[in-house]
Amino acid sequence: MPNFSVRPRFLRRAFLLALSAALHLAAVASAQQPASAPIVLHAARLLQVDTGALLQPGEILVEADHIRAVGVSVDHPQGARIIDLGDATLLPGLIDAHVHLFLHPGAEDLQTVEESVPWRTILAGQAAKADLLAGFTAERDMGTEGAGSADTAVRDAIDQGLIPGPRLRISGNAIDILGGHEDANRFNPAQRMLSNADYANSIDQLVAVIRAQHKEGSDFIKIYETGPDHMVDGVLHTPYQYTEAQLAAAVEEARRLGTRVAVHAMGEPGTLYAAQAGVASIDHATQLSDETMRLMREKNIPAVPTFAIFDYFARNATSPATAARESALLDYKIREFKKQVAAGIPFAVGSDVGPFPHGTQAVELELMVRYGMKPLAVLQADLIEGAKLLGWEGRIGQLKPGYFADIVAVPGNPLEDITAVEHVSFVMKGGTVVRP
Ligand SMILES: [Zn+2]
Repeated sequence: MPNFSVRPRFLRRAFLLALSAALHLAAVASAQQPASAPIVLHAARLLQVDTGALLQPGEILVEADHIRAVGVSVDHPQGARIIDLGDATLLPGLIDAHVHLFLHPGAEDLQTVEESVPWRTILAGQAAKADLLAGFTAERDMGTEGAGSADTAVRDAIDQGLIPGPRLRISGNAIDILGGHEDANRFNPAQRMLSNADYANSIDQLVAVIRAQHKEGSDFIKIYETGPDHMVDGVLHTPYQYTEAQLAAAVEEARRLGTRVAVHAMGEPGTLYAAQAGVASIDHATQLSDETMRLMREKNIPAVPTFAIFDYFARNATSPATAARESALLDYKIREFKKQVAAGIPFAVGSDVGPFPHGTQAVELELMVRYGMKPLAVLQADLIEGAKLLGWEGRIGQLKPGYFADIVAVPGNPLEDITAVEHVSFVMKGGTVVRP
């Protein structure tokens, strides 16, 4: 059963009710605004992500919330607003497949102890805005880390146009075992510290928690499959948390509800169990055996490496001992990643932003290039695999007629210098310019 005590749950409900009443008034106001004129975007370049073709120049005709036409020149309908973005490259809005809107830099355990869920929800709204302005128009939130289903309100407020933010797929709280990766271990037991995830210790409990989270608005299920991690003689060791049979039961229950399971899984054998069970993605994926990689290719299960968080921890350690440990783990991860790239497994792009500042996570694409992938392959992983992983294939991730007009502009040519994606100069989401 979820580890909800009655009082925090009541407070959360009351807060969400108050928020939704306020949001309703704002929705009424925004619904009265007139429909906008078509928009033509013009830039020196436009990347067609699936083929890698660079149109020079590139133009996009946007009508309402979607793309109407793409080419070196498109129709300029009467009354259309022309936006010339100059020496820039037009790309689909970026996708981050692993974020935590409810985390900010600082000790994760303490922010969940010291900060109320209403306060964390307000910060999550700010985080969503920062991510959007950085060019991320779609994200998968991999767990509120103790804020229950408060992400339902954030997603719904964004969808109703009440606050700015990316399109979101949300998991609510993640799922974890008693005493597991996300539990409040090693605190004074008399203080009854809450876990940062919902407990499930058996198949029956997994099914019950998945149903409860679904009831509260989750789009998918996030399960912690491994941890804690240790480096022994330069090799990662990480215990699994659920058996293959338990994960398969979770995947089956998610499928029954029309949704999917994503796992935090650092290494073997948890990564193998996840691949065997048929999860949607294996996140962190630091250590993958040959058999695990074979299954990932066969079932098209992407790895989401999340280099940005490992890089951040290695460079921002609080003591020399921690810095040495984090650096050893990152070095190991880089070596394994090169093997994974050579093995041809699918990848999606996720940063694990939250523990490091929101809006800075495009560095993930730079790191994936630095450690062995070509810029176009990283952009395809981000945009094409990302769209599939978020369940928006055919709607986002490419600049094609009929797709949502989620569009960014970056300086220069990202195929020559991927760091261009860290300097997004223009953002449109669903046909609305959010960063002029
Ligand atoms: Zn994470």
